[in-house]
Amino acid sequence: MSKSHGAFLISLDLELFWGVRDKRTVHNYSANLAGVPAAVDAILNEFSEYGISATWSTVDLLMMESIEEARRLQPILKPQYEDENLSPYNYINGPWDGEHDSFHFAKRDIEKIIAAPNQNIGTHTFSHYYAQEQGQTLEEFKADLDCARAVSPVPLNSIVFPRNQYRDDYVKVLHEFGIHSYRGNETSWLYQSTESGDQSILKRTLRLLDSYINLTGYHTVSWSEVAASYPYNIPASRFYGLGIRS
Ligand SMILES: [Zn+2]
Repeated sequence: MSKSHGAFLISLDLELFWGVRDKRTVHNYSANLAGVPAAVDAILNEFSEYGISATWSTVDLLMMESIEEARRLQPILKPQYEDENLSPYNYINGPWDGEHDSFHFAKRDIEKIIAAPNQNIGTHTFSHYYAQEQGQTLEEFKADLDCARAVSPVPLNSIVFPRNQYRDDYVKVLHEFGIHSYRGNETSWLYQSTESGDQSILKRTLRLLDSYINLTGYHTVSWSEVAASYPYNIPASRFYGLGIRS
């Protein structure tokens, strides 16, 4: 934050199976998902060592301890996507064998992140919500964020829209939920920043983390540009998911 031309923001999407549920099965993605807890530990150690601050944009369904809790706390108003497969609620309310709970719920990991130095939690929506899909409405989006806010152990003040699907009218209601920034689309000047000591450390760290998993997004932003918009639009420079790209 001290640099005049920009700052580094690391934002990780923590979503486990919810980020890929419409495209994968727990069986064909289990190797990726199983590595996430170890990756979280490794990342937290690296961040602590180098004093790196990050925001973990978290699918808030991960805060649930069980499928029963997810069912109890799910929104009444659910997204009515034309493509029904995009909604996780048939899946949540369908047969559940409990065998893969660790691919769906991660409360312990999130508590570790919260307890770690300089780490922030943002939302990646409650249900990995797709704001540009046909059929769903602004009211359904708001019902999703209501759930996210209700289950998050910390106040949410930033959002990463799943698959970067956002709309102006949706951005305009974020402040009702205490959310003051979102991750916007990529802008090319982000790649123009020069190497500094800090950036080298960051790249080294990210490379190391990348050996554990498909990582994070990291972002170089101009604070003056960010400050010109409200809610603040933090442009994305690269996208990775935490073990899951989406
Ligand atoms: Zn996602």
